[in-house]
Amino acid sequence: MTAPAVGAGPSHPDLARVASPSVARMAGADRYATSVAASRAAFPSGSSPSVVYLVSGTSPWHSLSATPAAVHEGGGVLLTRADALPAVVSAELRRLRPGRVVLVGSTSVLSTAVARQAKSIVPEVTRVGGEGRYQTAQALVRHAFRTPVAHAWVATGRVWTDGVAAGSAAASAREPLLTVDGSATALPAAPLDLLADLGVTSVTLVGGTSAVSAGIERQLTGFLGAGQVTRATGGDRYAVARRVADLTHPNPAPGTSYVATGRDFVNALAGGFLAGRTKRPLYYTLPYCVPATVRVRLAGSATTRVTLLGGEGSVRSLVGTLETCRSITSPSSEWVLANKHNPLRPKSYVPAGLVAPDVSNPGGGRLRKPAAAALARMFSAARKDGAGRMQVASPYRSYSTQYSVYWNRVRTHGRAYADRWIARPGYSEHQTGLSLDIAPVGSSSCGAHNCIGGTPQGNWLKRNAWRYGFVLRYEPGYTSVTGYNSEPWHYRYVGTALAKAYHAGSWHSLEQFLGEPAAPTY
Ligand SMILES: [Zn+2]
Repeated sequence: MTAPAVGAGPSHPDLARVASPSVARMAGADRYATSVAASRAAFPSGSSPSVVYLVSGTSPWHSLSATPAAVHEGGGVLLTRADALPAVVSAELRRLRPGRVVLVGSTSVLSTAVARQAKSIVPEVTRVGGEGRYQTAQALVRHAFRTPVAHAWVATGRVWTDGVAAGSAAASAREPLLTVDGSATALPAAPLDLLADLGVTSVTLVGGTSAVSAGIERQLTGFLGAGQVTRATGGDRYAVARRVADLTHPNPAPGTSYVATGRDFVNALAGGFLAGRTKRPLYYTLPYCVPATVRVRLAGSATTRVTLLGGEGSVRSLVGTLETCRSITSPSSEWVLANKHNPLRPKSYVPAGLVAPDVSNPGGGRLRKPAAAALARMFSAARKDGAGRMQVASPYRSYSTQYSVYWNRVRTHGRAYADRWIARPGYSEHQTGLSLDIAPVGSSSCGAHNCIGGTPQGNWLKRNAWRYGFVLRYEPGYTSVTGYNSEPWHYRYVGTALAKAYHAGSWHSLEQFLGEPAAPTY
């Protein structure tokens, strides 16, 4: 599991002046429709661009330099399948009626079928592409930039995150982005000749020396002069993208900020074009939260509207509410993901601040304080709603308790059976102090946690637990994701913000909500 960027925390001075930007979402039924949505926003009815660049929607490698090239020409960008023009994209080309179409990449990137289909709509179709990604990048820059430009951006063509962010920023500045093999110790002649031909006098390298090497930096400094080569860098992809946006938009007027997941290129590329065309910043976030370094910008006065690029599957509603990322690996975090791939670290973890919840709790067990308080509110609300009374069956379990529970079950039922029902010691959510098993009280046919399913209490919890910050952790039909059989009694406290977004987005496993791999087995 990758650890999310955890930011400066609530003590960061900029977090004190939190504005409330409006939230919009730009999304279609698939990546191509999302790209069309961006195109429609860029060219509302009546305005026909001179050119539309068609780029691959399945591979980013030839497309990184296309956005600033297209925007510099006053044109649009649309994603297409590699082997055929999707119907939604054909329809958009018919609506736009551009003067010409540029196909980005060789026939191995976009097939001759795509060219044929485009030509049936727009007579003038040009293919701009070379043997490899770097040759395509150079060809795109030469194709679009016919007059001298003083400044250019240089990013690695090996990692899409830097190039897509820089492509949008370069488009905002109406400057070229040249992608290069950043791992090389020096650039070959072709990109150097191109920079010279363009009359470039300064460049910004995107990312650290692992992205664009120190050798290339030295070489370009020798070529352009001291002080003419700068770097836009940061600790991770989110910070690099923010730095790139900061450089392009040093004093942005209030307006829209575009947000895409930093885990997939598609929506960032589709929407990054619109951001660049409208000279607005593009930021990356995690699928389910905003890194603190980015939140500072989204909550700042220059952002009056946040436009989420892509659907719920790409960016959850928590990003729109500017929820700051919390750790999903630290066992003390309310967002920790504990499953068969992710033991608690350390396995012997003992939470601080365990208290006995103020509810019916025959075993006298404990939970962490926020979970205990939320549980009391939840049980009380269920009673008021007429759903009946409930009690705690099993809350916090220590490593050693989990050890005996697990091995007892192995002895009685075998290891395969035990692993479907009980976490191995060090892997249990119960050990975080945030999970508990709940039993109904006074139900005619059920008094134990394992028959809560279908009781008024069980049904009420399924509908309402999210309001109190709990999610049903092991749902039927998700064993291949969670690794556990359906457990209608096991609830996990994640806090109200996450639980609300989880419910609103109709999610069924924490693994999927967090965009983490399924964990069916150890
Ligand atoms: Zn449980």
